[in-house]
Amino acid sequence: MCISENLKKINSELPEHVTLVAVSKTKPVEALQEAYNVGQRIFGENKIQEMESKWREMPKDIQWHMIGHVQRNKVKFMAPFVSLIHAVDSFKLLKEINKEALKNERTIECLLQIKIAEEESKFGMNKEEATNLLTSEEFKKLKNIKVVGLMGMATFTDNKAQVLGEFQKLKEIYDALKIQNPLFRILSTGMSGDYALAIKNGSTMVRVGSAIFGERNYI
Ligand SMILES: *Cc1c(COP(=O)(O)O)cnc(C)c1O
Repeated sequence: MCISENLKKINSELPEHVTLVAVSKTKPVEALQEAYNVGQRIFGENKIQEMESKWREMPKDIQWHMIGHVQRNKVKFMAPFVSLIHAVDSFKLLKEINKEALKNERTIECLLQIKIAEEESKFGMNKEEATNLLTSEEFKKLKNIKVVGLMGMATFTDNKAQVLGEFQKLKEIYDALKIQNPLFRILSTGMSGDYALAIKNGSTMVRVGSAIFGERNYI
């Protein structure tokens, strides 16, 4: 199957309120262009420099989402153009994004990453840390960022019950935090292997890579 057919199939499965992020990490711009040509405008990358070089090459009406772990010293490279940063996992990082957004006279939308998976390797905050961040006075002073929701990654496992439990837990946290945070509108969860289950459990944004572009050779 080719990229345009994959996209068509996935789009036909997505309810209207769910946004598709085409995860194009490691793929050449030709592959992204093929998706662009059939209407895809949101692309997700997990390396800032790779995203920046694709941004330079590709049409300017693309929305670029940073879905990977972010190092603070690299925020400046994406601040001029990034449209959503999915994996904010500390207040320090949020402050750095605010600083660079201000330099660029922009407001950058962010999601807080919540750790729902068992794996030690996964990043993210717990509910208490996210709550503390969102209610702190220091947070309210940051005028050039908007936290518009949460992001989570389920454990990489065939155990559907476990993945379901993790999605449910994330949805619970999302619903609880949304009450105090009227800007919340995005719950980013679900990838190629689990997006259907994620959508059933409240996802409003899925990040799909290999089901669109085919398997990656690395990462
Ligand atoms: C790579 C990646 C995805 C997409 O994974 P697929 O299984 O290829 O759909 C989604 N989210 C994050 C954070 C990723 O790094």
